[in-house]
Amino acid sequence: MSSSHVLVLNCGSSSLKFAIIDSNSAIEHLSGLAERLGEASPQIKYKFNGKKHTVALANGDAHEVAINQLVELVKSLKLDQQLVAVGHRVVHGGEHFTHSALITDTVLEAIKQTATLAPLHNPANLLGITAASDAFSTLPQVAVFDTAFHQTMEPQAFLYALPYELYKKHSIRRYGFHGTSHYYVSAQAIDLLGLKGKPSKIVTAHLGNGCSICAVKDGKSVDTSMGLTPLEGLVMGTRSGDIDPGLFAYLVNQLNYTASQIDTLLNKESGLLGISELSNDCRTIEESAAEGHTQAQLALDIFCFRLAKQIASFAVPLGGIDALVFTGGIGENSDVIRAKVVNQLSFLGFKLNNESNLAARFGNEGVITDQDSTPLALVVPTNEELVIAQDAAKLAEEL
Ligand code: ADP
Repeated sequence: MSSSHVLVLNCGSSSLKFAIIDSNSAIEHLSGLAERLGEASPQIKYKFNGKKHTVALANGDAHEVAINQLVELVKSLKLDQQLVAVGHRVVHGGEHFTHSALITDTVLEAIKQTATLAPLHNPANLLGITAASDAFSTLPQVAVFDTAFHQTMEPQAFLYALPYELYKKHSIRRYGFHGTSHYYVSAQAIDLLGLKGKPSKIVTAHLGNGCSICAVKDGKSVDTSMGLTPLEGLVMGTRSGDIDPGLFAYLVNQLNYTASQIDTLLNKESGLLGISELSNDCRTIEESAAEGHTQAQLALDIFCFRLAKQIASFAVPLGGIDALVFTGGIGENSDVIRAKVVNQLSFLGFKLNNESNLAARFGNEGVITDQDSTPLALVVPTNEELVIAQDAAKLAEEL
């Protein structure tokens, strides 16, 4: 099989994650992170041939400096010759993008227009696209959208019960995120469970710093917990997830909050951090709860209760559940959270296997329920970078 290397870029406002992946073999040849961009002492950390390195970055236009340094690095490691494309993670594709897209002027314009829906993410993604298009001018650039997988949702799942005009005129609707991850782990689970080509009803739970679940019917997203923004749905590290929207007027009228203070409160000060008043990091929360920290225990309880409730509710769009898939930093590693959630769902037929649950961590995948459990629960490590590499290589080949 010939090699088909893709440079995968995930450009945030102050960081740039990168990897060079062979889209055929799934081998990762280089991976790294440029961080503290636009702040004091920016740097690039990378891993090559199993060894870790750190390089300081010059000051200046942070994203451009980071990409230029990355170009030098890729050339010095002689990885540039085999590159066939650059794949970019783009957070919001609105209703324009139902699949990954080769970046042309028209596509760039559409991503810019969608930036109003993701003001924190799309502008940073665009910085990465511009800098990489200049630096790797001979390579096709491909955008892979977090929202694209969910574009198969029906209006009954994606519309809010708001005046219809807000949707028609301003595109206000539910979009969903983490689509690349939900797509990858559901496809892996379908393979693993021998359900390829057969009807399947799968709930995928991507639990990282951000958390969302997706109802995947016969390989297609039919509902998801995130909405217009990645704030809706589950309790997350620092995000509240669902709240009573009446809270907004209460905070404004009674407590004199501004819109931007409410935004910060709900996105950055809530979730595990808000309840525990300790940390947004699930490991710290679990350790502290085990040591008797009451609010850390409460944060865990609320996180799991809300997650289990939402998973059960997805039996409605799916018409039942064949399997529940855990992924993301928490989903792949926290036996504590998986056990709490699966046990709360035992009324649906889930039978947790304690040994398998304890064994599934640090990149191990597999079923964590008993053989006679229906539905099944399993752990599948996500690999969004591989999906980006595969989509980019495929679109580049079609040129
Ligand atoms: P991101 O959404 O930024 O990609 P990750 O998917 O890496 O984040 O998930 C980060 C979360 O995973 C953190 O809350 C972290 O505490 C949690 N996590 C990682 N390892 C473990 C573990 N062994 N036990 C519990 N939680 C873990």
